Amino acid sequence: MELRTLGRETLTMQVTAESTFRDQLMDRRRRLESAVAGKTPSGDVARLLVEVDAALARMDGGTYGLCEVCHDPVEIDRLIADPLVRFCIDHLSPREQRALEDDLALAARIQRSSCPKPTCASMDGKSRTCTIRREW
Ligand SMILES: [Zn+2]
Repeated sequence: MELRTLGRETLTMQVTAESTFRDQLMDRRRRLESAVAGKTPSGDVARLLVEVDAALARMDGGTYGLCEVCHDPVEIDRLIADPLVRFCIDHLSPREQRALEDDLALAARIQRSSCPKPTCASMDGKSRTCTIRREW
C-alpha cells in the first residue's frame, strides 16, 4: 500500500516537472528565435537551438531526463538547474565535468574564506560573524 502510494506520487511529480521543463524549453526556443529575427542562426545561438530541439525531441520520444550513456534518470536538481543536461553525474561531458569542478572549487574557497572551520560553532546569530575569526 505504502509503496504504491509512493510510486504514484513520484510519477505525478515527474510528469509535472516534465511539463515545466517543456514550458521552459519552448520559452527558451521562442527567445532564441526572436534573437535571430529571421536570420540564419550562427555560433552559440545555433548550437543552443539544436540542443533545445533535441531536448524537445527527447520529451516526445519519452527519453527526456535519462542519461544518454547509462539510461539512468538524470538527477532532478541538475535538470532544474539546466533543462538541457543529457548525462547523469557519472557521465558528464568533459566541459560539464570542468564546470562542476570549478563550482566545487569555488564553493570550497568560499567556505575557507568565511570561516576556518567547516561548521563554525561560534556564529553568534545576531551579526552572523565568526567570533573565533575576530579573536585572531
Ligand atoms: Zn549515466
